Amino acid sequence: MVKITDTYEINTGGVIIGGNSDISLQTMWKSPLTGLDSSGIDNILKELEELKAAGCDIIRFAAPDLRSAEILSNLAHKSPLPVVADIHFDYKIALRCLADDSGIAKVRINPGNIGAEWKVEEVLKRAADKNIPIRVGVNGGSLPAELKNEKNIANAMLKAAEMEVEIFEKYSFKNAVFSLKSSDVDSTVEANREFSSRYKYPLHIGVTEAGPLIPGVVKNTAGVLAMLNEGIGSTVRVSLSSPPIDEIEAGKAILKLCGSKKNYVNIVSCPRCGRATFDVHAFLSKINKKLNTIQKPVTAAVMGCIVNGPDEAKHADIGITGSGNSVVIFER
Ligand code: SF4
Repeated sequence: MVKITDTYEINTGGVIIGGNSDISLQTMWKSPLTGLDSSGIDNILKELEELKAAGCDIIRFAAPDLRSAEILSNLAHKSPLPVVADIHFDYKIALRCLADDSGIAKVRINPGNIGAEWKVEEVLKRAADKNIPIRVGVNGGSLPAELKNEKNIANAMLKAAEMEVEIFEKYSFKNAVFSLKSSDVDSTVEANREFSSRYKYPLHIGVTEAGPLIPGVVKNTAGVLAMLNEGIGSTVRVSLSSPPIDEIEAGKAILKLCGSKKNYVNIVSCPRCGRATFDVHAFLSKINKKLNTIQKPVTAAVMGCIVNGPDEAKHADIGITGSGNSVVIFER
């Protein structure tokens, strides 16, 4: 069994994935880049600053064509977060993202659609030359043609990853992160468990196409927590049909559950009931974004009345209990 700390350390634009490094959090940009003017790019950069303040370590963008790759390369030089280019089908887009003028920190390829080995070889040669890591992103929904009829998704994902490992090892390319993701929690855990017992490549983990916010968070918590508790996984992406900031907030909550030492704020708040003298929901929706930018290991409690408010606040670093139009703020 390969221990998590024995995995290779992969430098993704200054964020180390694997080895003894902290588990990093990442999300993905959710809109196309094509057609953006400079103010559109500025808006993205502003949002990336907000994601960084909220605890995001790495951002990934889809680059479905060469034009997107150009824009991404330009954006990456100004980005406050390391930028990963997500490539499907066309290896030439990956080559563009690995060009001299590219500020891109990592390239993701999908073995299910990148094509023949010589194309992967071209990508690996360029990546080795530029010292840029590659993520092999195996997805249960886009497996290589020869594995599409496999009944056991976990086995199929493992085989797809192993086929790629063979190519990477043939070219002595170790600067790589792997991911094996499916929308099925058990298959995802099983495939990652098996892969991590055989190889030293760090794993990017998450349950993919997990659904809308609530079921998506539940599936990711079940899968990611199970893997992290077994020492599997070096970087996390919680995949949700929801904005990137929700993926980061969910990822932080999962990492806290598994004892991450990172400086994430812990928010305690009451569900509100008929005794409430203060609208906790409305108050939280106003301050939640701000609270999430606190990069300190503090607990903030927001309570709706005096039944549980003062006692919960006693255990928190900051307690906020409402009463009518007023709030009482307790410190420690
Ligand atoms: Fe209800 Fe007060 Fe408890 Fe909130 S703290 S759930 S308002 S009793």
